Amino acid sequence: MSDIGAIVRDIAREMAAVAQRGRVADYIPPLAEVDPARFGIAVVEADGACHLAGDADMPFSIQSVSKVFSLTLALGKVGDALWQRVGREPSGSAFNSIVQLETESGIPRNPFINAGAIVVSDVVLAGHQPREAIAEILRFTRALAGDDAIFVDEHVAQAEQGTGFRNAALANYMRAFGNLRHPVEQALGVYFHQCAIAMSCRQLALAGRYLMLAGRSPATGGSVISAARARRINALMMTCGHYDGSGEFAYRVGLPGKSGVGGGILAIAPARASIAVWSPGLNERGNSEIGTIALERLVQRTGWSVFGPSY
Ligand code: GLN
Repeated sequence: MSDIGAIVRDIAREMAAVAQRGRVADYIPPLAEVDPARFGIAVVEADGACHLAGDADMPFSIQSVSKVFSLTLALGKVGDALWQRVGREPSGSAFNSIVQLETESGIPRNPFINAGAIVVSDVVLAGHQPREAIAEILRFTRALAGDDAIFVDEHVAQAEQGTGFRNAALANYMRAFGNLRHPVEQALGVYFHQCAIAMSCRQLALAGRYLMLAGRSPATGGSVISAARARRINALMMTCGHYDGSGEFAYRVGLPGKSGVGGGILAIAPARASIAVWSPGLNERGNSEIGTIALERLVQRTGWSVFGPSY
């Protein structure tokens, strides 16, 4: 069929020419310093073929993309009991919104909004010191990518710790409802550090392979999670992975995807490809402007949308 390598290179060339690149996140100071001209793309196919273009080997702050890996870990620890503490419905609200928590008794709508991810961090913390929980998330991410060079950017973690007043409000609010088991500072410490993991598009696409391959990871040679669980994580990425922009992302791209305010997106074409794109400028919902356009074009040219072909 199509030559994926050529498509990926064409897209990188086209994205370099786009003038409207969105706005870099500035509420986390180090993210405001990243050059909005950056663009990277990595596509890893089911047979292992890896196609890279642009800044595909430059590490960036994965931010909320990390919520996919921490959710996978938490499900491995407590299984479906997690769903007593976090919902599975799209929120229709901003990633850092507090409004639904009051009427819904401190149970976040889904694991990808900040409140939900903070509960997931609390689950990963069980039986650990915060430092060990952070190390476990990092170790897991490195194992998925098969790359021990992946690191936590301590400068970003500290900046979030110093400015994360909304996240602190969410955590305190949930603690008041008994939906956090550990001290707020500990759950937030784990959350901020997982968000501060730095990865390149290549590393991120490699880490996402288990979601394209029904839970199996070529890096570990075995099963990371069951096929049913991989399918369900993909479903959550489709319905909730872009917050109040999830409907629009499904409409335009049609793949399970998880965004982060660092400008990265991990997208999964089940049984076909694990895809990472990065461009730091965000749209008004906090999702990468150029990254979304790039995925839209990739899906148009490959026919990979889960909803059907584009031609
Ligand atoms: N660390 C960021 C925050 O908590 C993550 C948000 C995001 O990537 N959408 O605000």
